[in-house]
Amino acid sequence: MKHITISEVGPRDGLQSVASILSTEGKLAWIDAEYVAGVREIEVGSFVSAKLLPQMADTAAVVEGARCHKELVIAVLVPNARGCEAALEAGAHKISIPLSLSETHSLKNVRRNHPQMLEEIAACQALVDQVPGAARPDFEVGLSTAFGCTIEGAVEEAFVIDMAARVLDLGVAEVGLSDTTGMGNPAQLERLVTGIWRRCGEPRLTGVHLHNTRGQGLANALRAVELGITTLDSSLGGLGGCPFAPGASGNIVTEDLVFMLDSMGYSTGIDLPALLRARHEVAQLLPTEEWFGFTAAAGLPKHFHGTTFKEAS
Ligand code: ZN
Repeated sequence: MKHITISEVGPRDGLQSVASILSTEGKLAWIDAEYVAGVREIEVGSFVSAKLLPQMADTAAVVEGARCHKELVIAVLVPNARGCEAALEAGAHKISIPLSLSETHSLKNVRRNHPQMLEEIAACQALVDQVPGAARPDFEVGLSTAFGCTIEGAVEEAFVIDMAARVLDLGVAEVGLSDTTGMGNPAQLERLVTGIWRRCGEPRLTGVHLHNTRGQGLANALRAVELGITTLDSSLGGLGGCPFAPGASGNIVTEDLVFMLDSMGYSTGIDLPALLRARHEVAQLLPTEEWFGFTAAAGLPKHFHGTTFKEAS
């Protein structure tokens, strides 16, 4: 049975784009509930300026608190080398930095143009390389607005592939593809994934970050796993989006994604009934936020037994 890693991004992508500020205890309760359900990779926060995103001010404490879950890959987002230093100090297992392919979006999001971002990426890689082997976290560059930009419009596919190659030439192990604005479609996803694979090699791109802004999220996810992508980002209840891409809201819904993969016979290691309980618990912590997803609304079919459920340890 083919395994797909579901990387839960709600505590970062979700929380950074909603008005509610969840306490450190609340975030740890969220992480705990999903860990119990079998989720083994969670993006728990980002090391950004607390002035810009007060929701993320406690990321170091959240990383520390999440370390009790022995099998959990604790992922964080950083906007620059300073954030990367903080992430290393906190002991994150996986560090991602977004590189927006739309330069206008990049300037708005992190106030840096492309040459400046490539410098930041190289500086992050140098910091990561200083960590001794066994303790060294994975470092990845997320190619954001890769499917289109709210401000610039179309993003040239050849440019996406060129930038992937430039980033990987800096010594970065892997890039990810992000549909930050939810403009992508399955044919475009296939062209981008196979284009980067042909140019740079399949091991250099194994994960995608999809949004459901125009209802294409699961269609894109399906195309991705059929092609051979093995990590998918999603958010519990579809919480979140991008505050700097107006109109972009909602990651793909973790519960619906697990339902699709499970039903098709992919292994996710996630117990869907437990995940739905986690959703219920987290929704109570964020009572004013909107929660998305069809599986939670409709309930599980009577005959659904989850092909991949294994007892959470
Ligand atoms: Zn996102």
